[in-house]
Parts: sequence; structure tokens; C-alpha cells
Amino acid sequence: MRSQEKALGRSHYPVCILGAGPSGCSASLHLTQNGVHHLLIDKSTFPRDKICGDALSGKVVYALNRVAPGLSAKLASISTEFLPSWGISFYAPNGKALQVPFKQNPSPEQMAPGFIATRMDFDAFLVKSAASAYADLVLGTDAHIRIHEDRIEITMPDGKVVTADMLIDASGAHSRIAREYGIEVDKNHHCAGLRQYWQGVEGLHPNGFIELHFIKDVLPGYFWIFPMTNNRVNVGIGMLSSKVSDKKVNLKNELARIIETHPEISKRFKSAEPLESPKGWGLPLGSKRRQISFNRLILTGDAASLIDPFTGEGIGNGMISGYYAAEMAVDATQQERYDADFLSKYDEHVYHHLGPELAMSHKLQQMVNYPWLFNFVVNKGQKSKEFRTTLTAMFENVDLRTRFRDPRFYLKLLFNK
Ligand SMILES: Cc1cc2nc3c(=O)[nH]c(=O)nc-3n(C[C@H](O)[C@H](O)[C@H](O)COP(=O)(O)OP(=O)(O)OC[C@H]3O[C@@H](n4cnc5c(N)ncnc54)[C@H](O)[C@@H]3O)c2cc1C
Repeated sequence: MRSQEKALGRSHYPVCILGAGPSGCSASLHLTQNGVHHLLIDKSTFPRDKICGDALSGKVVYALNRVAPGLSAKLASISTEFLPSWGISFYAPNGKALQVPFKQNPSPEQMAPGFIATRMDFDAFLVKSAASAYADLVLGTDAHIRIHEDRIEITMPDGKVVTADMLIDASGAHSRIAREYGIEVDKNHHCAGLRQYWQGVEGLHPNGFIELHFIKDVLPGYFWIFPMTNNRVNVGIGMLSSKVSDKKVNLKNELARIIETHPEISKRFKSAEPLESPKGWGLPLGSKRRQISFNRLILTGDAASLIDPFTGEGIGNGMISGYYAAEMAVDATQQERYDADFLSKYDEHVYHHLGPELAMSHKLQQMVNYPWLFNFVVNKGQKSKEFRTTLTAMFENVDLRTRFRDPRFYLKLLFNK
């Protein structure tokens, strides 16, 4: 990847993006589509690891096509690294499973609706795709950023200073800038997560279904098994941080306990080998609306706390926020308006698009506090084809998730025979 780094081509850029993860690369790709010159800085060189479940949902595929048409087809062609995923299995606290395919009538020549790929591979794919005549990539560099009233000042480790009209912060869950602008870790809206790669886990779905196991002692949260290429799986556990503190849960012990003693899961790990020790990272959840744009500054992805509070999915939301950040930056550079009032349109777009499902996912997360209710829903789903078909339709058509807004939809879904 180093070969794709460019020397700083300019002393001033219309836009600087900090962080070349999915949110930053999406903003970069979309700025390139619109012919806007920008600087993309990351402190890491790529490929680099990022602790994650590695599940790339249909929303990621949808977002790829929005930021740069044709990019999802390119991703699907790298089949050695990206495992196609055709559905999801929810395991209720009573152990019963609800299997929901992502597509109603899949045909063999169709592209898979989702994928599982290590972040080493996915993020390197994005960074490689982001390289363009409009993007100056500076990787492996911890730049110092200062946000002034009239400019952004970026000081490189060698002391060289460049400026930009505005900053898109995509530097993830530990963003220093987000903290400076008041986005604190709030344990009621934050999840603690652990990932551990394994090899040789048995009983995986032949069509790459991802598995979410809602186990009584780790609610609200879940244990996951996501199949990968080369007989590997991504195994992990995530739980609301306030509950981790209140219940004094040691997530590492909990992960090991489930793998070793859970009546069904332990059987599947009998001949499996861990490929690493468990690694942890935080998930800033989007269950609370925040201010995510300021004077000359837009926050995206984890820096803006946009992770789905029920599923823990943050890549797709990060990419969608990166898309809107780029759209806003195009407008801002055309109109030469970088004030907080003008940029607040970004907040409106992001929350208009993601707000209803974030709110509903928050409700689902709270429902998981009541295992009997979750058991009831999964039992219902096992019996009702209509219920499963509706869930599939939701995964198939991202826009259909706007139905989440209407509580009558749930009543109909749950209580129709
Ligand atoms: C345990 C766990 C499991 C998860 N599982 C899933 C899943 O299966 N599917 C899903 O969709 N989401 C999942 N998520 C959430 C997902 O990982 C994040 O939402 C996603 O990575 C957010 O992307 P981002 O681009 O905003 O930030 P990041 O991916 O964190 O990227 C931020 C980038 O900024 C760079 N950076 C940081 N600081 C600086 C700095 N000062 N200067 C320059 N660069 C900087 C970093 O090097 C990094 O490359 C999971 C998260 C965790 C913790």
C-alpha cells in the first residue's frame, strides 16, 4: 500500500479527511466522484487490523454503490477473501433459532447480499479504491490537527503545515476531536466487544449465515459466530458497557465460558483451535442523537457514534455518513460556507436516513432485556412464514426499514396468524 501514498501535492486543500477506515474512505470516494480535491490521512499503513465482527451487511453493499457505482461488483469478484453471506440466524435465550435469509428468491448468478471479510482485507480494498487524482493519501502519519475559525491547520510529524477549508473526522471510536467537541463515552449508549478468530468450528450454515446468540448472562448483547474463508470463523461477544460495569462481567471469562460450557455451542468447538487471544474494542452506539457537525467540522462513523444499538453493525452506517459528509462538503466548497449553521444540514440528512432504524434498534436492544419477549418473537418467527418473509424483505430493501417507524407494523407482524 505504501506505493499508493502520495507526497503532499498542495499546501491547501478544500477538504481534509482524518481516518481511512470505511467512513473516511467512503467520504473520499464520493468526493472523487464529484471532482473535489482532498487530503486523506491515516495514522496506520494498510493492510491493518481493526477489531470487528467483519460482517459486511447488505447496507455496506448498498453504500458502496452509492459512494462509487460499480465498487460492490469489484468487491464480489475477490472471492478468495470475501465469503458470501446469504442470511442470519438469531438464537433466542431459550436456544431456539430463527433463520432469516437476506433474499426471498436468490438465484445462483446473483451477487450475495452480504459478505464476511477481515478488516485487513476490506479496509485495504477501500483504501486502494480511494487512491485517485483527487485524493492525496498520507498513510502511517499521526498528524496534529487544529480547527481555527477560518481554516483547518494540519501539522505533519516533520513540522510541515498544510491547511484545509474543512475537516471530515473519520478517526473512529477513540476520536480525539469528537471528545473535544463533547462526544463523551456514555456507558448507556456504548458497547464493549471482544473478537477472537478460530479455525475448525463445526456446524456452520452452508450459505454463510451469520449467527447471533442471545445468551441470558450477556444481555443486552450477544455472542456471535461469523463464518469466514479458509475454515476460519470470527467469534466474539458484545455487551452494553453499563451492564458490564453494573454486573461486573469479565467479558473474556464469559467468552471462554460460553465456548467451553454452553450445551450446544461447546460441541461445535470440540476440534476447533483459537488463532489469537481475544482482543477488545468499544462500540459507540447511535441510540442517542448527538450534534455531529460544527464550524468547519463534520464527524462520521464511530467518531459520530452511529453504530446500530441492536446488531452492533457500524460499517454500513459509517459509510452512509461518509457519503453524506462528502455531499455536504461538495455543497460547502461550492458555496464557500463552512459555518456550523450551514453544515448542520449534514445532521439532518444522517438522522433522516438512519434515525428511525437507530431508534427502533434501540427499542429492540431494550426488548432483549426481557428474554421471555425475545423467546416469544423467535417462536412466532419459527411458526409464521409471513413473519420470516417480512424480515427478509427488510434486509433485502434498506428503504423498507422505514416501516420501523410505525409501531402498528410490529403489532400486525406479531399478532397476525
Ligand atoms: C468487537 C466489534 C465487533 C464489530 N462487528 C461489526 C460487524 O460485524 N459489522 C459491522 O458493520 N460493524 C461492526 N463493528 C463496528 C465497526 O467496527 C465500526 O463501526 C467501523 O469500523 C467504523 O468505521 P470508521 O471508519 O468510522 O472507524 P474505524 O474503522 O475505526 O477507522 C478509523 C480510522 O482512523 C484512523 N485513525 C484513528 N485516529 C487517527 C488519528 N489521530 N490520525 C489519523 N488516523 C487516525 C485509524 O487508524 C483507522 O484506520 C464492530 C465493532 C467492534 C468493536
